[in-house]
Amino acid sequence: MSNGKLSKLNLTPKSGLTSSEVDARLEQFGINELIASRQPPLWRKIWQHLSDVSSLVLLFAVGLASYMAIAQNGGWMKTIVIGSILIINVAIGLYQEASAEKALAALKSMSLPTTTVRRENVAQTVAAEKIVPGDLVLLKAGDQVPADAIVIESTNLTIDEAVLTGESVAVEKDAYLSGTTPTEMQQAFAGTAVTAGTAVIQIVATGMTTELGQIAGLLNKTKKRATPLQGRLNRLSGWLTTFAVLGGLLIFALSIWVQNQGVADSLMIGISLAVAAVPETLPIIVTISLSHGVKRMADRHAIMRRVSAVETIGGIDVIASDKTGTLTQNKMTITKYWTPKTGIMSASGPVPAAGRQLMQSLGLATNAEIKQVNGGKQTFGDATELAIVRWLAKNETSRADFEQDYPRVAEDPFDSKKKMMTTVHALNDDQQLVIVKGALDRIPLKANAANDAAAQQAHDQFGEAALRVLAVGYKVMPKQIAPITDWDAVNQDVTLAGIVGIIDPPRPEVIPAIREAKRAGIKPVMITGDHLVTATAIAKEIGILTADQQVMSGETLRGLSDEDLTAQIKDIAVFARVSPTDKIRIVQAWQSTGATVAMTGDGVNDAPALKVADVGIAMGITGTEVSKGAADMILTDDNFATIIAAVKEGRTVYQNILKAVEFLVGVNFAQIFLMVGAVLFGWGAPLLAEQLLLVNVLADGIPGFYLSREPGEATAMQQAPVGNDESILARGLGRRLAVRAATFTVLTLGIYALGRFVLTANQAPVGMTMVFLILGVGSMIDIYAIKERQPLSRASFKRNPSLNWALLVGVTIVIGLTAIPGVQNLFSFVTIPPAAWVITMLGMFIPTMVLETTKRLQQRRRGYVTDLVE
Ligand code: ATP
Repeated sequence: MSNGKLSKLNLTPKSGLTSSEVDARLEQFGINELIASRQPPLWRKIWQHLSDVSSLVLLFAVGLASYMAIAQNGGWMKTIVIGSILIINVAIGLYQEASAEKALAALKSMSLPTTTVRRENVAQTVAAEKIVPGDLVLLKAGDQVPADAIVIESTNLTIDEAVLTGESVAVEKDAYLSGTTPTEMQQAFAGTAVTAGTAVIQIVATGMTTELGQIAGLLNKTKKRATPLQGRLNRLSGWLTTFAVLGGLLIFALSIWVQNQGVADSLMIGISLAVAAVPETLPIIVTISLSHGVKRMADRHAIMRRVSAVETIGGIDVIASDKTGTLTQNKMTITKYWTPKTGIMSASGPVPAAGRQLMQSLGLATNAEIKQVNGGKQTFGDATELAIVRWLAKNETSRADFEQDYPRVAEDPFDSKKKMMTTVHALNDDQQLVIVKGALDRIPLKANAANDAAAQQAHDQFGEAALRVLAVGYKVMPKQIAPITDWDAVNQDVTLAGIVGIIDPPRPEVIPAIREAKRAGIKPVMITGDHLVTATAIAKEIGILTADQQVMSGETLRGLSDEDLTAQIKDIAVFARVSPTDKIRIVQAWQSTGATVAMTGDGVNDAPALKVADVGIAMGITGTEVSKGAADMILTDDNFATIIAAVKEGRTVYQNILKAVEFLVGVNFAQIFLMVGAVLFGWGAPLLAEQLLLVNVLADGIPGFYLSREPGEATAMQQAPVGNDESILARGLGRRLAVRAATFTVLTLGIYALGRFVLTANQAPVGMTMVFLILGVGSMIDIYAIKERQPLSRASFKRNPSLNWALLVGVTIVIGLTAIPGVQNLFSFVTIPPAAWVITMLGMFIPTMVLETTKRLQQRRRGYVTDLVE
């Protein structure tokens, strides 16, 4: 890393910048963002829409129609009609894109990282993008450094710079000495993570001028596995486009050689068929469905940081979740305690002298506090320690009371790898008191034959009752003047003061959520730092651990090779006493079985596992900024049940996209078969070029758009997750497409023949008008049968009111264009006889009836309608 741009530093006053200075600097340096997301101008957006294949073909058709009008000296209607269709197409595209962008912009503002700054002498939380050079930022463990900075004050500050250097060992940072040139050891860089300590830093560079900004282009290296849906749709679109072009060429050739039409006319009909048969609205519907999903997930407390994760979360096979706070309430209460003198006691009764000693040790080694803030109580610190604070308060004592007698002089903080912490207190002129608090199996206790078995028994008894167990020990050592560097030595030979059992009840909504996950074919896995016995008891209580599943300790896990872990992973529902570094192996082992994995995490150390997981999930309340930065999804309520709600939304989005495919593609195929079939029968084209294009805009674009707003179906969570290599046509979609295409082909050919040959004496325009009505209205009303996998009921029409309105508008336009005298001529429609109206009206319902009958037959055969992979 270069620090060439740094010379001596102009120190910002300790009170920080003033708000007018911040405004001026924001103006001067811009916002602190890596890639400036400037909106492209409108003309560029229009150009993008005009330059997609179907618009280009339409443009060509406009040119061709104009050429024909000039050559024939009149008949400009075709040009105007095709030109209008082109404009409508682009307008719909722009509108849909804008609504998707709006949803995404709202989302972005929800997941913006925040940071704490000192401005005008007040510490305040602001969006990290609003940081300016000169700002004083206050950092603590778990924070992400928001921009490049110089460390002004530092207390044991260590920073993980792996994003920049690839070096995973965190480096210590010192405070800058005024008047010197800052060294790298006194600098903090944007995107790096504070692993321990606290600091005040002064920002020197923001946005693209940071070290991270300069390598921003390289950041995409850590790409996730690609999401399968887009790939599948691209393949389907490619296939369809080829088919549409072949259909267009075929009709062009038939028109010339069978019908003896001119080249220009034949070209026009060929082009129109190709344009009509390509489902150009599909990519837009996908974007809109995803952005709707993002919004609905946000309403259910899941903020997506990557749009494509909406799809991935719907397809996950495994959710590996932390226990504390996600599956449990994180409201901890000490219910039992044990000391060598008292044995097991209930914590709700009066506490004898031996118990008071246990309280003292616990109190001395605690950092949490409950403070009066603005007339209300506010808690600060770790939930486990808050249980201690509350127990002390209930017994009319406090941490401060004990600290008065034994002031704290040093601390080795808790970390979830060691699972213990140590504090050192002044005892007398020559000695200090050491308190070690943590997991019973981690504290290096002095052997005591009389107590050890009883302590272990109490520990196991607490654990089996699903209590979290915390032990505390003490020792007296000679006074140390120099700062302690060898904590291992300090921690040796501790005498056990006692243990406490802490209840952390499961969240009530988690039990049904786990049941739902299992029904949806998703395996929930608990990953916890807690003891095996406690973890087992809770996992059984909430239904994660069943008779056919096993529990594995972190120790066993670390002894296994990757291959052995992969071989066993499917049988394990609980991993206990693991460290954050073990999580990554769990994710990878699952992934190598082909599974799609979601993983939760909250600490700095969880970030790598969150990145590797297919969906990394961070905790909005208790999570560190670093974990949020690494995640794809943030739970604003830290709740496991929210993950399941997000899965349901993800699956709904996927289903809606498939429904759009069914809706669009089925009729597109039918159009090709209709045109080619009619010409082969010697009837000529059953729709004019402009009629074909019009039905495509009206019946494809408008209703398809509203499918993306469909709420989820109850069956969404009764199906196995979609496999990574599952075909888009699986689960009956291929069959349904074929039925829909066949129904519309037979129906439209039949109606055309009826209109032209039976109801009238060879009047092609009557047949055309009837075909247009069937294709327009019939395919629009058919959307109800498509959007419900279950047989239609009255409720089906109430679920998505905007769709009803869109259809009403669409049907009115189609009927208006064919029936209103002056308007009819625009598209060469004619007034059809009353008998034709009756037949057409009945015919419009045939596709719906076919689909509904299939559903009912399926239901009778199996007892239910399903998309399950059988
Ligand atoms: P997860 O959130 O992953 O379910 P956890 O919070 O249960 O895990 P850790 O925080 O790693 O896991 O805690 C593991 C063990 O460390 C606990 O069982 C307890 O014995 C001990 N422990 C937890 N918090 C503290 C603390 N503040 N001080 C001392 N020991 C602690």
